[in-house]
Amino acid sequence: MMEMLIHNTGWIEVICGPMFSGKSEELIRRLRRAIIARKRVQVFKPVIDNRYSEDEIVSHADARFKAIVVPDATGILSQIDWRTQVVGVDEANFMGPELVNVASQLADAGKQVLIAGLDTDYLARPFPPIPDLLAMAESITKTLAICMRCGNPAKHTQRLVDSADLIVVGAAGTYEARCRRCFEPGVPKQEVLPFLRPPAR
Ligand code: ADP
Ligand code: ZN
Repeated sequence: MMEMLIHNTGWIEVICGPMFSGKSEELIRRLRRAIIARKRVQVFKPVIDNRYSEDEIVSHADARFKAIVVPDATGILSQIDWRTQVVGVDEANFMGPELVNVASQLADAGKQVLIAGLDTDYLARPFPPIPDLLAMAESITKTLAICMRCGNPAKHTQRLVDSADLIVVGAAGTYEARCRRCFEPGVPKQEVLPFLRPPAR
């Protein structure tokens, strides 16, 4: 990305992968580096994700970064300070379809747009608007988690609770990371859930 710093060109970087894969951590790492580079930074997260904090993005390992909560992607445009040089977006899969336009506009206006979000849902379907953002991005990073069944690299978000809703907000106990082989689309049969198995002796 060094080349692009020189002429104030905007661009889009996407960080995607399953839950627990370190997307927020990686986003926070890049935002901290932007601060070190004395860039003006603003970070946004959707209102739906208030699991750990009202006004911060928070990783599962408790890294934090101040964020502005918006109802959807259009809220980014109404809250953006036009002097901002680096725009972070966490949980982008909950920002709505307008994020595609908003991210393009920001990048066209010369901003570095860092987007983190789930690339697939609990049924392994591409999770809009991330696929479109991947097509538009200058840089793509796919993060993998560790499969909670076998320890292999995991690209899936396994839902552990019984719900057919697309969005069930939660973390440990509600979802876990699974690899291609261990992933069971939808909800696993209750008897195979590890916490319902009889304890080993
Ligand atoms: P994401 O934003 O992708 O959900 P986070 O950045 O919030 O991920 O959290 C990543 C951290 O979660 C890791 O550094 C690790 O401490 C923790 N973690 C918990 N479960 C797992 C797992 N199955 N695989 C990898 N990391 C995990
Ligand atoms: Zn596995």
